[in-house]
Amino acid sequence: LVDRISGKGADAWSIHWRARELEAAGRDVIMLTVGDPDMAPPPQVIEAVVDALRAGRTTYSPIIGNPEVRAAVAARHQARTGQPTTAENVVLIPGAQAGLYCALQCLAGPGDEVIVPEPMYATYEAVAGAANATVVNVALRPERNFHLDLDDLERALTPRTRVLWLNSPHNPTGAVMTRAEVESAAEFCRRHDLWLLSDEVYADLAYVGPHVSPWSLPGMAERTVVVSSLSKSHAVPGFRSGWIVGPPQLTGHLAKLVLCMLYGGPPFIQAGALVALTEDCPQVAEMAEAYQRRAGIMASILKDVPGLGAKAPEGGMFVMLDVRGTGLSSAAFADGLLDSQGVATLSCDAFGPSAVGHLRISLAAPDARIEDAARRIARYAGSL
Ligand code: PMP
Ligand code: GLN
Repeated sequence: LVDRISGKGADAWSIHWRARELEAAGRDVIMLTVGDPDMAPPPQVIEAVVDALRAGRTTYSPIIGNPEVRAAVAARHQARTGQPTTAENVVLIPGAQAGLYCALQCLAGPGDEVIVPEPMYATYEAVAGAANATVVNVALRPERNFHLDLDDLERALTPRTRVLWLNSPHNPTGAVMTRAEVESAAEFCRRHDLWLLSDEVYADLAYVGPHVSPWSLPGMAERTVVVSSLSKSHAVPGFRSGWIVGPPQLTGHLAKLVLCMLYGGPPFIQAGALVALTEDCPQVAEMAEAYQRRAGIMASILKDVPGLGAKAPEGGMFVMLDVRGTGLSSAAFADGLLDSQGVATLSCDAFGPSAVGHLRISLAAPDARIEDAARRIARYAGSL
């Protein structure tokens, strides 16, 4: 197992740690490497956690999650997708990352193939490898604004294909799949009897939208597995509060898996999750507005800089910056930018070949820092 997952994705954030060292040595570094929300979570969510701790809710909790919280996930899911969803469809899991891991353990096995559009989030290959399955990539091309070409899916299909794994809004590209794209992908899965694994952690951050979950489409709830969390929507990645929504035969398997892995989640976190899922939290929309505004600031400063191509994303919390016109590789650009201007970004190399020549710039910093970073990036590009 360790061989199958070693090295995959782990080095994607190495520049982040180098930037942290520069910061510790006294440099003014603008950290735009990680999608770690900078804004405060809804206060009532924090209060609920603190109250639960004070009330002694530090015991074991039900293996697949507190039924009330599972029902709240189901109600929210049903309201958003229009498809019947009950607590039977829901397993709580500590973060979407663990959700993807557990789901894929159930959906794919040795020799199975999982079709994944690339660039893809840096942990996906290791998740598939842990199940002893193989990732078969299809390219999301910059010239299509990183949208899927459905013909590529047909070309990637083999008798071993079991799963199509999608992520929308997308990390790192910021693409939001259109309804037509999701419908075609769903039809592909129905026609070839595949599972559709849908990573929806950025569902609340769709600016060109709306976000369309494949679960909402006819005949898809029986073959769709949705993984999501509160990490980004409510700015609580440290809660590790996520869930899997799937058909009951899958959640039954997941219950067995999480019994031997997790034995339930922290009850005080679930108390916060219940409030996040059931109470009105205006911060969710405010944070989405802030990311969108920051993307606009970044793109407006960089759009006319020779050698750079910056576009506001359709969703998510990252801007993709095309640096191919500078003649530098994205890794060399990211290193030079950090050293000369103190702006830390990620080279997209680790996300897949189609993102080569692009930087991923996180929008998780206050507006003024985003503006400062954009000016420093422009200055660096001008110095080349
Ligand atoms: N999928 C994608 C595409 C992500 O960017 C992330 C990180 N936010 C995750 C999954 C994991 O999220 P979580 O914090 O819920 O584990
Ligand atoms: N998902 C976030 C990102 O893409 C956080 C990842 C992390 O903390 N390693 O940056």
